[in-house]
Amino acid sequence: MRFLLPQWSFAMLLFAAAGGAVAACAPEALGTSRVLTLKREYTAYGTVQHGALPLEKGEVVLTFDDGPNPETLDRVLQALASQCVKGTFFMTGANLASHPELGQRVVQAGHTPALHSFAHPFLKSMPDNEQLADLARGMQTFSGVFGYGPAAYRFPFLEETPAILAQLKQRKITVASIDVGIDDYSPNDMSTAALVARLVERLRHSGGGIVLMHDANGPTAEALPALLKAIRDNGYKVVHLRWE
Ligand SMILES: [Zn+2]
Repeated sequence: MRFLLPQWSFAMLLFAAAGGAVAACAPEALGTSRVLTLKREYTAYGTVQHGALPLEKGEVVLTFDDGPNPETLDRVLQALASQCVKGTFFMTGANLASHPELGQRVVQAGHTPALHSFAHPFLKSMPDNEQLADLARGMQTFSGVFGYGPAAYRFPFLEETPAILAQLKQRKITVASIDVGIDDYSPNDMSTAALVARLVERLRHSGGGIVLMHDANGPTAEALPALLKAIRDNGYKVVHLRWE
């Protein structure tokens, strides 16, 4: 038995050196504190519009919208891997159609995939049939890439409409709103310092919850190591959200 550990360690080193999937956590990494597995059902979470997820005070769920983007995904996945945390990625069908391999990488890295429409339209300004066409196209693309349908949907701009809500209900898809945003989009100040300050301030008010970030945005990808460090330094715990 005493030779087992050195052999195992050596094998892991070789695997890591060969570019294997061994995550190299930073010293004192934030880490994922627990996995919260939800049923595939029609319900809605996120206190900006709905009720809260069953989280304890101080727990946060990391969510990323608008990807996958080839210009930012590497940095985002690296930042998450180095802190050993998992997130939920609300991807658009259009980006998945352009970069199915990036969608696969998100899942292979252990993160949860979810849908964020096909073309990220302003749904409230569209007739019902066009809204439903966007949803159908998004669902079809998602299933084509992952082999199963999305368990959760986040409305573009959080603009909920009766037509899409009715479809989500029929298809047992969870509506995923948010608790906390960091305004990581134009024309806001997207310097790392500003993003970190907004995150810390808003988490202080909410006590935790679902955090919205945009992995497709360069400044967010740039700031992610600092954002994760702020989460760790302020004592929050990361919960990995999954669906059955
Ligand atoms: Zn979006």
